[in-house]
Amino acid sequence: MKDNNCIFCKIASGDIPSHTVYEDDDFRVILDISPASKGHVLILPKEHAKDIIELKSEKTKRIMEVVKKIGEAQMKAIGATGFNTLINTGASAGQTVFHCHIHVIPRFESEKKILTWNTLSYEDGELEDYATSIIKAL
Ligand code: AMP
Ligand code: ZN
Repeated sequence: MKDNNCIFCKIASGDIPSHTVYEDDDFRVILDISPASKGHVLILPKEHAKDIIELKSEKTKRIMEVVKKIGEAQMKAIGATGFNTLINTGASAGQTVFHCHIHVIPRFESEKKILTWNTLSYEDGELEDYATSIIKAL
């Protein structure tokens, strides 16, 4: 199903033009207009889902095959020596477009940009508490 108010639905369907590098029945892969590195792509499912949680399971399984295909092509064709695969889910995680997408960001030996974050440490007993809470919700 397509959401008429969703820009990525319009791009995925071809109603809005994009620089498409791959397309099949389920996905369109486009160049990100504000790339973290040149060749940064977004994998868009053609069916609207606001995030990875809403995406149907069969598509979720297939999408990782597309990640592999695209990442390998970035390494073969544009000299990438690695790539980051990123899914932002929810505004607090940095999601700005609420149509599920996966970023595949090529990385180059010459740029050496590594995604980093400040690390925290757990108080006594917290590790067990967090693990227990997550396990209970599965
Ligand atoms: P996120 O923050 O994970 O929701 O990422 C949204 C991404 O979509 C950003 O990296 C934007 O640069 C990219 N983006 C937004 N609009 C377009 C567009 N029309 N064509 C290509 N990329 C876009
Ligand atoms: Zn959409």
